[in-house]
Amino acid sequence: MPELPEVELVARALDKIITNRRIVAAEALRAKLLPDSSPEEFALKLRGALVQSVGRRGKHILVHLDNAQVLIVHLRMSGRFLYLPQEAPLPKFTHAIFYLDNDYRLVFSDQRHFGMMKIVDAVALHETKELRSLAPEPFSEEFTPAYLHSMLRRSRRTLKETLLDQTKVTGLGNIYAAESLFRARVNPFIIAAEFSKRRVPRLHQAIIDVLGESIRHGSTLNVDPENIDGSYYGGEYEGHWRVYDREGEPCPQCKSLIRRIAHGGRSTYFCPRCQR
Ligand SMILES: [Zn+2]
Repeated sequence: MPELPEVELVARALDKIITNRRIVAAEALRAKLLPDSSPEEFALKLRGALVQSVGRRGKHILVHLDNAQVLIVHLRMSGRFLYLPQEAPLPKFTHAIFYLDNDYRLVFSDQRHFGMMKIVDAVALHETKELRSLAPEPFSEEFTPAYLHSMLRRSRRTLKETLLDQTKVTGLGNIYAAESLFRARVNPFIIAAEFSKRRVPRLHQAIIDVLGESIRHGSTLNVDPENIDGSYYGGEYEGHWRVYDREGEPCPQCKSLIRRIAHGGRSTYFCPRCQR
């Protein structure tokens, strides 16, 4: 499942590739991709639109169009974009095709079928169901240690679960929550409200550092336009995970063995010695 850094990198790659391109036509091949509209409306709203920029809010990719509309895309489990010359065969799970004015096609394929697209008026973008309840972006000025503290103070869930809640902190998933807690030397199972205020700044900094590093690492890799996420996603950054998916391996700090505990329906990886 892509987390904030992966979505950021996909959005940047798309921005590089399709900004200032006109969508000559668009086609949704799977109606369920569009929770709010029919394939006909989708085609109608996108036809002839010029892409002005591609950005991100939370894990949503935002394609800003010159017709005062924004295409919102959520990759969910396995959605990916490919940028293909016209003659290239379509991938097996093609759910949407954007025909561009340079005879290339931007193709959305999604093996697990959970991806989502919707088109909204630009003026109402931040009021849409998907975006309105999202917490501040981790790199925004609103995301301060004071914000993090006030948010944790109100949660009776564990720190790990609280960090995964997109209405509390935007963009942390299972991987980067585990990495941030390790970096801050914090026990994932502490009740958020009981977390000492004194330790909040270190956790705050760890979140920013972990997300920032993974984006920087990914952004130094070349983007393969025929595989817009595959050039880094689930690949390169794995080598940098310190605890995630490392059960039984020695902690990079203290050599204790990394543990995994199933928690809230997910696995939590941590060092029992460093993270007390
Ligand atoms: Zn350790």
